[in-house]
Amino acid sequence: MTGRADYFAKGSYNVLCDECSWKYKAWQLKKRWDGLMVCPPCFEKRNPQDFVRGVKDAHQLPFTRPEPPDLFVDMTNPIRASNLANPPLTPIDQNVPVPIQNIPGPV
Ligand SMILES: [Zn+2]
Repeated sequence: MTGRADYFAKGSYNVLCDECSWKYKAWQLKKRWDGLMVCPPCFEKRNPQDFVRGVKDAHQLPFTRPEPPDLFVDMTNPIRASNLANPPLTPIDQNVPVPIQNIPGPV
Protein backbone atom coordinates (compact mmCIF):
# COMPACT_ATOMS: atom_id res chain seq x y z
CA MET A 1 0.00 0.00 0.00
CA THR A 2 1.36 3.35 -0.93
CA GLY A 3 0.99 6.44 1.14
CA ARG A 4 1.79 10.08 0.88
CA ALA A 5 5.44 9.48 1.80
CA ASP A 6 5.92 6.86 -0.91
CA TYR A 7 7.65 8.97 -3.50
CA PHE A 8 11.21 9.37 -4.53
CA ALA A 9 13.19 12.02 -2.76
CA LYS A 10 16.88 12.06 -3.48
CA GLY A 11 18.91 11.46 -0.33
CA SER A 12 15.94 10.72 1.89
CA TYR A 13 14.08 7.63 2.97
CA ASN A 14 10.84 6.62 4.59
CA VAL A 15 10.53 6.41 8.36
CA LEU A 16 7.72 5.94 10.83
CA CYS A 17 6.91 8.47 13.50
CA ASP A 18 7.66 7.06 16.93
CA GLU A 19 4.38 8.34 18.32
CA CYS A 20 1.69 8.03 15.65
CA SER A 21 3.47 5.50 13.40
CA TRP A 22 2.58 7.40 10.26
CA LYS A 23 5.02 7.23 7.39
CA TYR A 24 7.10 10.30 6.65
CA LYS A 25 10.29 11.19 4.88
CA ALA A 26 13.30 11.20 7.20
CA TRP A 27 13.89 14.94 6.87
CA GLN A 28 10.38 15.65 8.19
CA LEU A 29 10.93 14.12 11.60
CA LYS A 30 12.36 16.03 14.52
CA LYS A 31 13.85 14.79 17.74
CA ARG A 32 11.65 15.52 20.69
CA TRP A 33 12.80 16.24 24.26
CA ASP A 34 12.22 12.62 25.28
CA GLY A 35 14.45 11.31 22.50
CA LEU A 36 11.68 10.13 20.16
CA MET A 37 11.77 11.00 16.47
CA VAL A 38 8.33 12.42 15.75
CA CYS A 39 6.43 14.08 12.93
CA PRO A 40 5.51 17.80 13.11
CA PRO A 41 1.98 17.21 14.50
CA CYS A 42 3.40 15.03 17.26
CA PHE A 43 6.18 17.42 18.17
CA GLU A 44 5.80 19.28 21.45
CA LYS A 45 8.08 21.27 23.68
CA ARG A 46 8.91 20.03 27.09
CA ASN A 47 6.60 21.36 29.75
CA PRO A 48 8.31 24.11 31.78
CA GLN A 49 6.81 22.62 34.93
CA ASP A 50 9.28 19.75 34.52
CA PHE A 51 12.05 22.17 35.51
CA VAL A 52 10.40 23.50 38.65
CA ARG A 53 12.31 22.55 41.76
CA GLY A 54 11.10 22.89 45.31
CA VAL A 55 12.70 25.34 47.69
CA LYS A 56 14.05 23.66 50.77
CA ASP A 57 12.33 25.04 53.83
CA ALA A 58 14.12 25.02 57.17
CA HIS A 59 11.64 24.02 59.85
CA GLN A 60 13.72 24.57 62.94
CA LEU A 61 12.57 25.65 66.36
CA PRO A 62 14.44 28.50 68.06
CA PHE A 63 15.37 26.17 70.94
CA THR A 64 14.50 22.73 72.21
CA ARG A 65 14.67 20.91 75.53
CA PRO A 66 14.55 17.24 76.39
CA GLU A 67 11.27 15.93 77.66
CA PRO A 68 11.14 15.85 81.50
CA PRO A 69 10.56 12.51 83.19
CA ASP A 70 6.95 11.55 83.84
CA LEU A 71 5.44 12.33 87.26
CA PHE A 72 3.15 9.76 88.83
CA VAL A 73 0.90 10.31 91.82
CA ASP A 74 0.38 7.25 93.96
CA MET A 75 -3.36 7.37 94.67
CA THR A 76 -3.23 4.41 97.06
CA ASN A 77 -1.24 6.36 99.67
CA PRO A 78 -3.27 9.28 101.06
CA ILE A 79 -1.57 12.40 102.25
CA ARG A 80 -0.46 12.41 105.88
CA ALA A 81 -2.81 14.26 108.24
CA SER A 82 -0.09 16.42 109.74
CA ASN A 83 0.63 17.87 106.33
CA LEU A 84 -2.97 18.92 105.77
CA ALA A 85 -2.55 21.99 107.99
CA ASN A 86 0.53 22.92 106.01
CA PRO A 87 0.03 21.09 102.75
CA PRO A 88 3.08 20.46 100.66
CA LEU A 89 3.26 21.96 97.22
CA THR A 90 3.88 18.57 95.70
CA PRO A 91 2.20 15.67 97.52
CA ILE A 92 4.04 13.19 95.36
CA ASP A 93 6.76 12.46 97.92
CA GLN A 94 4.35 11.82 100.77
CA ASN A 95 4.24 8.12 101.41
CA VAL A 96 2.64 8.11 104.85
CA PRO A 97 -1.03 7.08 104.87
CA VAL A 98 -3.74 9.49 106.04
CA PRO A 99 -6.96 8.54 107.76
CA ILE A 100 -9.87 8.89 105.37
CA GLN A 101 -11.87 11.21 107.70
CA ASN A 102 -9.07 13.82 107.69
CA ILE A 103 -8.98 14.29 103.97
CA PRO A 104 -10.79 17.50 103.06
CA GLY A 105 -13.71 17.04 100.71
CA PRO A 106 -15.09 19.40 98.07
CA VAL A 107 -16.30 22.73 99.40
ZN1 LIG B 1 3.53 11.46 14.56
